Amino acid sequence: MMTMTTPRERILEELATAEADLAKVEAQLEEKPELGPGTGSTGAMTWELALARKEWLEEQIKSLHSALDRAQNGGYGRCQICGAEIDPERLEILPTTTTCAECARAGRSH
Ligand SMILES: [Zn+2]
Repeated sequence: MMTMTTPRERILEELATAEADLAKVEAQLEEKPELGPGTGSTGAMTWELALARKEWLEEQIKSLHSALDRAQNGGYGRCQICGAEIDPERLEILPTTTTCAECARAGRSH
C-alpha cells in the first residue's frame, strides 16, 4: 500500500531525527577530551568533530523549522529566487531547500 507523505510530515520526520542526533552529539560533548600527556589527540579530534556536527545540526534544525513554517503557511516547494516550482525530486533529497536546481547551479542567492 502506498502512503502519501506530505511535505509537512517529511519535515517533521527529519526534524525528529535531527533533534535526536543533536541530543546524542550534546551528550558526547559533555565528555571533555582528556588532553593530558600520552593521551594523544584522538579525544580532542572526536570532540571537535562532535562540535562541528552540533553546529551543522543546529543549522539543519533552523532550516527545518523555517521549511515547516513555509509548509504550513504556503510558499513551500517554490524557489525563493525565481518563484518557480522546485522539482519534487530535489525536495525529496533536500527538503529544506528554498531554491530550484537552476538557481542553485547558477550560485544565485537571496
Ligand atoms: Zn529558481
